[in-house]
Amino acid sequence: MSRRRLMAPHRGLGLASPSPTFELPCFATAAKLWLRLEFLNLELPRSGVFARLTEMFLEHVDFNHRGRGDFGHTFSTPRCPLLRRLRIAMCTGIDTMGIYSDSLHHFELEFVPGLMELTLMAPGLRTLELLSCFYYIQEWNCSIHAPDLESLRWGDRFNIGSVLFVGFARLQQLAAFTIPVFGRPDNTIIQEFALLLGRFSAVYRLDLLLSYERDLDKYEYLMEYITKLPNMNTMSLWLYARGHSVGTSVFYLLSLCPSVKRLQLTLLDGTVANSPCHSNCECDEHPDWNEWEAIVHGLEEAEIRSFRGTEHDFNFVALLFLVSPALKKMTITLDCMADASEESCQKLREIVAVHPGACLEIHQNTSGVFYEFRQSNFTKTPDDHYYDSRNLDDKQYMMDYITILPHAEKLFLRLSSGPHAYGACPDDWKTKHISLDFQEVEVHGIEGVKHEVVFLR
Ligand SMILES: [Zn+2]
Repeated sequence: MSRRRLMAPHRGLGLASPSPTFELPCFATAAKLWLRLEFLNLELPRSGVFARLTEMFLEHVDFNHRGRGDFGHTFSTPRCPLLRRLRIAMCTGIDTMGIYSDSLHHFELEFVPGLMELTLMAPGLRTLELLSCFYYIQEWNCSIHAPDLESLRWGDRFNIGSVLFVGFARLQQLAAFTIPVFGRPDNTIIQEFALLLGRFSAVYRLDLLLSYERDLDKYEYLMEYITKLPNMNTMSLWLYARGHSVGTSVFYLLSLCPSVKRLQLTLLDGTVANSPCHSNCECDEHPDWNEWEAIVHGLEEAEIRSFRGTEHDFNFVALLFLVSPALKKMTITLDCMADASEESCQKLREIVAVHPGACLEIHQNTSGVFYEFRQSNFTKTPDDHYYDSRNLDDKQYMMDYITILPHAEKLFLRLSSGPHAYGACPDDWKTKHISLDFQEVEVHGIEGVKHEVVFLR
């Protein structure tokens, strides 16, 4: 199949004049169909078969399908008999989606605000990713029958009354994101993640994306809402630490799974914008570590990526050895901007030297690329500026999220900090005609840096 790029003019979100609706043809000979349409109104074909289609990618599309029945029929086996990979992201106008597919192998559903009902029956499904579809609605239901599912990536609400998982006995990898470490006392997100994590008894690998607030004074520690984790071989923790010590939350999670063999820790914020927090910060309030001795009896290998070389980081390494008597191998990759001085390396060697039989490997990330908690497994296109990891920034995502809700009246925004966030403003924003209906805006977490001011303007 030849690759054709369909360009659509941007219609200026929120403007009064509706744009015309286009009906998608079935593309009888196409094997892959990727559409990113700047919220063009698009109607799926009412009949016909995508006879050869194996991969479909629909992004930034307004389907205007509310109240018009099941949206998922088009992707089900009778209309898409060979479909293996499907991604629907940042799309509006969908309220009910039922997909019944024998061929579907990989499915991503990301940011579809207003979705009330998702039913998925996919006996061949191996990978499922669900992100931010149900945060915006009171009544919703999600039913997933996927007996061969191996990898579940969940970044959405979860409660027993609304989510039904059928099968899932072969689940190997579970990823949950984004979990607040501190938050308001009435935080329900952490309670829902606690339910999700308690739902599975064993996986091979668990990935958790944890996020700290910059200023913890107004918040309470939430991690103890999580009381159960599945048994696992590998725990991979991704942390937006915002300059805080991560020991308390990490050791708490390890204590819930003392037999874990391998720990991978990735610090997602670099060294420049994340100066260590103040000395009385409550992130470092933890129980007497001596009481925690040998809490992780199974841990044999640990890897820390983007080690920043702060006092917090050195303390963490020393404590990890203290609580993990079987720890034999420590691999540390220094952040690309961290101080890789001989003094820092020597300090690490001294920590490891007091534990006979343990070995230490130190690497330096010289690529200039930050580690990224990926939310999509779809291959990037060469012209895909949007998802190029070097260009990725939260603000770009955030503006997408905001502009997808042109008729919302209230905006509550909590800004995050870090060099990855609110980076260079995409050029086309200055010329885009985005019109929003917000009557009330509340923004938290402003640190006064230039990018934030530009963003607010
Ligand atoms: Zn702190």
